[in-house]
Amino acid sequence: MKSDLKVFITVTASTCGECGEELGRKAWITLVEDKGALCLACADLDHLVFLPSGDAALTRRARKHSVLSAVVLRWSRARKRYERQGLLVEAGALEQAEQECLADEEVRVRRRERQAARRVELDEQYVQQFAERVRAPYPNCPPGREEIIAEHACLKYSGRVGRSAAARDLGEQAIRLAVLAHIRHTETSYDRLLASGCERWEARAQVEGEVSRVLAQWAEGE
Ligand SMILES: [Zn+2]
Repeated sequence: MKSDLKVFITVTASTCGECGEELGRKAWITLVEDKGALCLACADLDHLVFLPSGDAALTRRARKHSVLSAVVLRWSRARKRYERQGLLVEAGALEQAEQECLADEEVRVRRRERQAARRVELDEQYVQQFAERVRAPYPNCPPGREEIIAEHACLKYSGRVGRSAAARDLGEQAIRLAVLAHIRHTETSYDRLLASGCERWEARAQVEGEVSRVLAQWAEGE
């Protein structure tokens, strides 16, 4: 059974309780009992894409196909209650849902808009460089994954002042962390554990061995 994770758009300025990043106002956060606000990167939700409310069929299908999803809520001062803004879902799940809704012209338009916005955010040259640096230490990484990992890292670091420097020097540690996160989300039951309400640390501990095994596999030469 899937329990809905909740992401809040803050009203007042907040700071991430884990990485300490100043998130400012209108930041997207999760709330964790002992740490307060967590940024989406620390909450391991930053690989999800936002689908605004408005298209019930698309939302329903995207949620169904996404192992991990989160409801995005914002406090309405006027109505004095949290209002649903949309859903965070896996990019692949949204694509699949869109395919199923393709008859709908409006969806096609929105999809083009989203792809255009994504291209603007991504620095193509940087992505290619990062992808090459992923491939080098992990020659057995399945074809095409290095681009997915690089795109995600680029999106994550873009617009984050404190992180851009670390990303740009393409350090081995940054690459290793990006690869580890990708393996955790795609090659293990991590997202499924989070979706079922498992604590992040507990879920990480459960998949740790599996992550190490895949990482070692990817690192092996021919
Ligand atoms: Zn953080």
